[in-house]
Amino acid sequence: MKLKLFFVTFIALLCAAQVQAAKVRVVTTLTDLADLTRNVGGEHVEVFSLATGIEDTHGVPMKPSFVPVLNRADLVVLVGFDCEHAFLPALLEASKNPRIQKGKPGYVDCSQGITPVDVPKSTDHSEGDVHPYGNPHYLLDPVLAKTAVQNICNALVAVAPQFADDFRANRDAYLAKLDAKIAEWQKNAASLKGVKFVSYHEHWPYFANRFGMVYFGTIELKPGIDPTPRHIEELVSSMKAEHVSIVVREPQFPEKVPALIAQQTGATLVKLPIMPGGVPHTDTYIEMMDYIVQTMVAAIK
Ligand SMILES: [Zn+2]
Repeated sequence: MKLKLFFVTFIALLCAAQVQAAKVRVVTTLTDLADLTRNVGGEHVEVFSLATGIEDTHGVPMKPSFVPVLNRADLVVLVGFDCEHAFLPALLEASKNPRIQKGKPGYVDCSQGITPVDVPKSTDHSEGDVHPYGNPHYLLDPVLAKTAVQNICNALVAVAPQFADDFRANRDAYLAKLDAKIAEWQKNAASLKGVKFVSYHEHWPYFANRFGMVYFGTIELKPGIDPTPRHIEELVSSMKAEHVSIVVREPQFPEKVPALIAQQTGATLVKLPIMPGGVPHTDTYIEMMDYIVQTMVAAIK
Protein backbone atom coordinates (compact mmCIF):
# COMPACT_ATOMS: atom_id res chain seq x y z
CA MET A 1 0.00 0.00 0.00
CA LYS A 2 2.79 2.36 1.01
CA LEU A 3 4.65 1.43 -2.13
CA LYS A 4 1.56 2.22 -4.24
CA LEU A 5 1.22 5.61 -2.58
CA PHE A 6 4.86 6.25 -3.25
CA PHE A 7 4.43 5.53 -6.95
CA VAL A 8 1.28 7.64 -7.23
CA THR A 9 3.07 10.56 -5.57
CA PHE A 10 6.14 10.01 -7.71
CA ILE A 11 4.13 10.01 -10.93
CA ALA A 12 2.17 13.08 -9.84
CA LEU A 13 5.41 14.94 -9.15
CA LEU A 14 6.81 13.83 -12.48
CA CYS A 15 3.72 15.10 -14.30
CA ALA A 16 3.92 18.40 -12.45
CA ALA A 17 7.57 18.75 -13.45
CA GLN A 18 6.69 18.04 -17.08
CA VAL A 19 3.91 20.63 -17.08
CA GLN A 20 6.40 23.12 -15.62
CA ALA A 21 9.00 22.22 -18.23
CA ALA A 22 6.45 22.52 -21.01
CA LYS A 23 5.95 26.22 -20.35
CA VAL A 24 7.59 28.58 -22.81
CA ARG A 25 10.23 30.57 -20.96
CA VAL A 26 10.18 34.19 -22.07
CA VAL A 27 12.45 37.05 -21.06
CA THR A 28 11.30 40.54 -22.01
CA THR A 29 13.43 43.67 -21.79
CA LEU A 30 10.61 45.91 -20.52
CA THR A 31 7.47 45.52 -18.43
CA ASP A 32 5.00 46.49 -21.18
CA LEU A 33 6.28 43.61 -23.32
CA ALA A 34 6.02 41.29 -20.29
CA ASP A 35 2.36 42.20 -19.79
CA LEU A 36 1.55 41.77 -23.50
CA THR A 37 3.35 38.38 -23.51
CA ARG A 38 1.42 37.19 -20.43
CA ASN A 39 -1.84 38.16 -22.10
CA VAL A 40 -1.05 36.16 -25.25
CA GLY A 41 0.80 33.28 -23.60
CA GLY A 42 -1.59 32.76 -20.70
CA GLU A 43 -0.91 29.57 -18.73
CA HIS A 44 1.65 28.33 -21.25
CA VAL A 45 4.32 30.95 -20.55
CA GLU A 46 6.66 31.90 -17.76
CA VAL A 47 7.65 35.54 -18.21
CA PHE A 48 10.54 37.46 -16.69
CA SER A 49 11.11 41.17 -17.36
CA LEU A 50 14.61 42.62 -17.04
CA ALA A 51 13.12 46.04 -16.17
CA THR A 52 10.80 46.57 -13.21
CA GLY A 53 9.17 49.70 -14.68
CA ILE A 54 11.09 52.60 -13.17
CA GLU A 55 14.24 52.29 -15.30
CA ASP A 56 15.40 54.16 -18.36
CA THR A 57 14.27 52.04 -21.34
CA HIS A 58 17.71 52.63 -22.87
CA GLY A 59 19.67 51.72 -19.75
CA VAL A 60 18.20 48.88 -17.71
CA PRO A 61 20.97 48.08 -15.17
CA MET A 62 22.54 44.70 -15.95
CA LYS A 63 22.43 42.22 -13.06
CA PRO A 64 24.45 38.97 -12.94
CA SER A 65 21.19 37.15 -12.13
CA PHE A 66 19.88 37.96 -15.63
CA VAL A 67 22.47 35.69 -17.27
CA PRO A 68 21.18 32.27 -16.08
CA VAL A 69 17.58 33.36 -16.77
CA LEU A 70 18.52 34.30 -20.34
CA ASN A 71 20.51 31.08 -20.68
CA ARG A 72 17.35 29.03 -20.13
CA ALA A 73 15.00 31.28 -22.14
CA ASP A 74 13.14 30.05 -25.22
CA LEU A 75 12.38 33.63 -26.33
CA VAL A 76 13.74 37.10 -25.70
CA VAL A 77 11.18 39.81 -26.49
CA LEU A 78 12.47 43.31 -27.20
CA VAL A 79 11.37 46.75 -28.43
CA GLY A 80 13.92 46.98 -31.26
CA PHE A 81 15.21 50.03 -33.20
CA ASP A 82 18.28 49.61 -30.95
CA CYS A 83 16.29 50.81 -27.91
CA GLU A 84 18.10 48.21 -25.78
CA HIS A 85 21.53 48.74 -27.37
CA ALA A 86 23.23 49.66 -24.07
CA PHE A 87 22.40 46.42 -22.26
CA LEU A 88 20.84 43.67 -24.37
CA PRO A 89 23.67 42.72 -26.79
CA ALA A 90 26.09 42.23 -23.86
CA LEU A 91 23.54 40.15 -21.92
CA LEU A 92 22.76 37.98 -24.95
CA GLU A 93 26.44 37.29 -25.47
CA ALA A 94 26.87 36.42 -21.78
CA SER A 95 23.80 34.14 -21.88
CA LYS A 96 25.53 31.68 -24.25
CA ASN A 97 22.05 30.71 -25.41
CA PRO A 98 22.08 30.11 -29.19
CA ARG A 99 18.25 30.05 -29.40
CA ILE A 100 17.81 33.75 -28.55
CA GLN A 101 20.65 35.38 -30.48
CA LYS A 102 19.81 38.06 -33.06
CA GLY A 103 18.48 36.46 -36.24
CA LYS A 104 17.28 33.28 -34.47
CA PRO A 105 13.54 32.47 -34.02
CA GLY A 106 13.91 33.05 -30.27
CA TYR A 107 14.90 36.71 -30.85
CA VAL A 108 11.58 38.54 -31.01
CA ASP A 109 11.94 42.09 -32.28
CA CYS A 110 8.52 43.66 -31.71
CA SER A 111 9.27 46.59 -34.05
CA GLN A 112 8.75 44.37 -37.11
CA GLY A 113 6.01 46.00 -39.17
CA ILE A 114 6.36 49.41 -37.48
CA THR A 115 7.60 52.46 -39.40
CA PRO A 116 9.70 54.58 -37.03
CA VAL A 117 9.37 58.36 -36.80
CA ASP A 118 12.26 60.83 -36.43
CA VAL A 119 14.83 58.66 -38.22
CA PRO A 120 18.17 60.53 -38.06
CA LYS A 121 20.40 60.95 -41.09
CA SER A 122 23.28 59.03 -39.50
CA THR A 123 23.01 55.94 -37.32
CA ASP A 124 25.94 56.71 -35.12
CA HIS A 125 26.06 55.98 -31.39
CA SER A 126 29.28 57.96 -30.88
CA GLU A 127 27.46 61.24 -30.26
CA GLY A 128 25.37 59.55 -27.58
CA ASP A 129 22.16 59.54 -29.59
CA VAL A 130 20.08 56.65 -28.25
CA HIS A 131 17.58 56.72 -31.17
CA PRO A 132 19.88 55.76 -34.06
CA TYR A 133 17.17 54.02 -36.13
CA GLY A 134 14.35 56.43 -35.32
CA ASN A 135 12.19 56.77 -32.24
CA PRO A 136 11.71 53.39 -30.51
CA HIS A 137 8.91 54.45 -28.11
CA TYR A 138 6.04 53.21 -30.30
CA LEU A 139 4.50 51.21 -27.45
CA LEU A 140 3.07 54.45 -26.04
CA ASP A 141 0.68 54.36 -29.00
CA PRO A 142 -1.85 51.60 -28.17
CA VAL A 143 -2.60 51.04 -31.86
CA LEU A 144 1.07 50.24 -32.49
CA ALA A 145 1.12 48.05 -29.37
CA LYS A 146 -1.24 45.78 -31.31
CA THR A 147 1.60 45.11 -33.80
CA ALA A 148 3.81 44.06 -30.88
CA VAL A 149 1.05 41.72 -29.65
CA GLN A 150 0.92 40.12 -33.11
CA ASN A 151 4.71 39.71 -33.25
CA ILE A 152 4.72 38.09 -29.80
CA CYS A 153 1.91 35.73 -30.84
CA ASN A 154 3.75 34.69 -34.01
CA ALA A 155 6.90 33.92 -32.01
CA LEU A 156 5.00 31.89 -29.40
CA VAL A 157 3.22 29.86 -32.11
CA ALA A 158 6.57 29.17 -33.81
CA VAL A 159 8.28 27.98 -30.62
CA ALA A 160 5.32 26.04 -29.17
CA PRO A 161 2.95 25.08 -32.00
CA GLN A 162 1.14 22.63 -29.69
CA PHE A 163 -0.45 25.67 -27.98
CA ALA A 164 -1.14 27.63 -31.19
CA ASP A 165 -4.92 27.61 -30.79
CA ASP A 166 -4.70 28.96 -27.24
CA PHE A 167 -2.19 31.65 -28.21
CA ARG A 168 -4.39 32.83 -31.10
CA ALA A 169 -7.54 32.84 -28.97
CA ASN A 170 -5.74 34.80 -26.22
CA ARG A 171 -4.40 37.24 -28.81
CA ASP A 172 -7.85 37.83 -30.28
CA ALA A 173 -9.38 38.34 -26.83
CA TYR A 174 -6.67 40.79 -25.79
CA LEU A 175 -6.81 42.75 -29.07
CA ALA A 176 -10.59 43.06 -28.68
CA LYS A 177 -10.11 44.36 -25.13
CA LEU A 178 -7.45 46.78 -26.34
CA ASP A 179 -9.66 48.01 -29.20
CA ALA A 180 -12.45 48.80 -26.73
CA LYS A 181 -9.97 50.67 -24.52
CA ILE A 182 -8.53 52.58 -27.51
CA ALA A 183 -12.02 53.84 -28.36
CA GLU A 184 -12.50 54.87 -24.71
CA TRP A 185 -9.09 56.61 -24.53
CA GLN A 186 -9.75 58.52 -27.74
CA LYS A 187 -13.10 59.68 -26.41
CA ASN A 188 -11.63 60.68 -23.04
CA ALA A 189 -8.67 62.42 -24.69
CA ALA A 190 -10.81 64.60 -26.96
CA SER A 191 -9.88 67.68 -24.92
CA LEU A 192 -6.18 67.01 -25.53
CA LYS A 193 -6.40 67.86 -29.25
CA GLY A 194 -3.95 70.64 -30.07
CA VAL A 195 -2.58 70.78 -26.50
CA LYS A 196 1.15 71.50 -26.51
CA PHE A 197 3.54 69.68 -24.18
CA VAL A 198 7.23 69.01 -23.58
CA SER A 199 8.90 66.06 -21.86
CA TYR A 200 12.31 65.21 -20.50
CA HIS A 201 13.17 62.45 -23.00
CA GLU A 202 11.71 62.02 -26.48
CA HIS A 203 9.22 59.34 -25.42
CA TRP A 204 6.02 60.81 -26.77
CA PRO A 205 5.85 61.37 -30.57
CA TYR A 206 3.66 58.29 -31.20
CA PHE A 207 1.37 59.11 -28.27
CA ALA A 208 1.04 62.72 -29.47
CA ASN A 209 0.20 61.57 -33.02
CA ARG A 210 -2.45 59.15 -31.77
CA PHE A 211 -4.22 61.63 -29.52
CA GLY A 212 -3.77 64.80 -31.59
CA MET A 213 -1.44 66.55 -29.14
CA VAL A 214 1.41 68.84 -30.19
CA TYR A 215 4.80 67.52 -29.06
CA PHE A 216 6.62 70.81 -28.62
CA GLY A 217 10.09 69.62 -27.59
CA THR A 218 12.29 67.92 -25.03
CA ILE A 219 14.32 69.04 -22.06
CA GLU A 220 17.14 66.78 -23.23
CA LEU A 221 19.23 68.35 -25.99
CA LYS A 222 18.97 65.17 -28.07
CA PRO A 223 17.75 61.69 -27.04
CA GLY A 224 20.18 60.54 -24.36
CA ILE A 225 22.06 63.85 -24.21
CA ASP A 226 21.71 66.13 -21.18
CA PRO A 227 20.36 69.64 -21.63
CA THR A 228 22.67 72.65 -21.73
CA PRO A 229 21.74 75.88 -19.87
CA ARG A 230 21.31 77.61 -23.23
CA HIS A 231 18.92 74.91 -24.48
CA ILE A 232 16.78 75.26 -21.34
CA GLU A 233 16.73 79.04 -21.68
CA GLU A 234 15.58 78.78 -25.32
CA LEU A 235 13.01 76.12 -24.46
CA VAL A 236 11.51 78.26 -21.69
CA SER A 237 11.19 81.35 -23.87
CA SER A 238 9.64 79.45 -26.81
CA MET A 239 7.26 77.59 -24.42
CA LYS A 240 6.08 80.94 -23.04
CA ALA A 241 5.60 82.39 -26.52
CA GLU A 242 3.68 79.32 -27.73
CA HIS A 243 1.64 78.71 -24.54
CA VAL A 244 2.86 75.19 -23.85
CA SER A 245 0.72 73.90 -21.01
CA ILE A 246 2.23 70.58 -19.84
CA VAL A 247 5.72 69.46 -18.78
CA VAL A 248 6.05 65.67 -18.59
CA ARG A 249 8.65 64.12 -16.33
CA GLU A 250 9.34 60.42 -16.78
CA PRO A 251 10.12 58.52 -13.52
CA GLN A 252 13.79 57.87 -14.28
CA PHE A 253 14.68 61.56 -14.50
CA PRO A 254 15.11 63.92 -11.52
CA GLU A 255 12.35 66.42 -10.84
CA LYS A 256 14.48 69.54 -10.41
CA VAL A 257 14.86 70.78 -14.02
CA PRO A 258 11.32 69.86 -15.21
CA ALA A 259 9.88 71.53 -12.08
CA LEU A 260 11.91 74.68 -12.72
CA ILE A 261 10.75 74.83 -16.34
CA ALA A 262 7.12 74.32 -15.31
CA GLN A 263 7.45 77.08 -12.71
CA GLN A 264 9.04 79.53 -15.16
CA THR A 265 6.47 78.88 -17.90
CA GLY A 266 3.32 78.39 -15.84
CA ALA A 267 2.87 74.90 -17.31
CA THR A 268 1.59 71.96 -15.24
CA LEU A 269 4.22 69.38 -14.26
CA VAL A 270 3.08 65.74 -14.49
CA LYS A 271 4.96 62.53 -13.78
CA LEU A 272 4.07 59.88 -16.35
CA PRO A 273 5.21 56.27 -16.61
CA ILE A 274 6.77 55.06 -19.85
CA MET A 275 6.17 51.41 -19.02
CA PRO A 276 3.94 49.57 -16.49
CA GLY A 277 5.18 49.90 -12.91
CA GLY A 278 6.74 53.33 -13.49
CA VAL A 279 4.32 54.88 -11.01
CA PRO A 280 1.88 53.17 -8.59
CA HIS A 281 -1.34 51.64 -9.99
CA THR A 282 0.11 51.04 -13.47
CA ASP A 283 0.83 47.33 -13.25
CA THR A 284 -0.52 46.44 -16.69
CA TYR A 285 -0.26 48.08 -20.09
CA ILE A 286 -3.95 49.01 -20.04
CA GLU A 287 -3.70 50.45 -16.51
CA MET A 288 -0.70 52.48 -17.60
CA MET A 289 -2.47 53.94 -20.65
CA ASP A 290 -5.51 54.70 -18.45
CA TYR A 291 -3.23 56.56 -16.07
CA ILE A 292 -1.44 58.52 -18.83
CA VAL A 293 -4.66 59.66 -20.52
CA GLN A 294 -6.35 60.59 -17.22
CA THR A 295 -3.28 62.49 -15.98
CA MET A 296 -2.88 64.43 -19.24
CA VAL A 297 -6.59 65.36 -19.27
CA ALA A 298 -6.47 66.43 -15.60
CA ALA A 299 -3.40 68.61 -16.29
CA ILE A 300 -5.30 70.93 -18.63
CA LYS A 301 -8.35 71.40 -16.43
ZN1 LIG B 1 14.35 57.03 -26.12
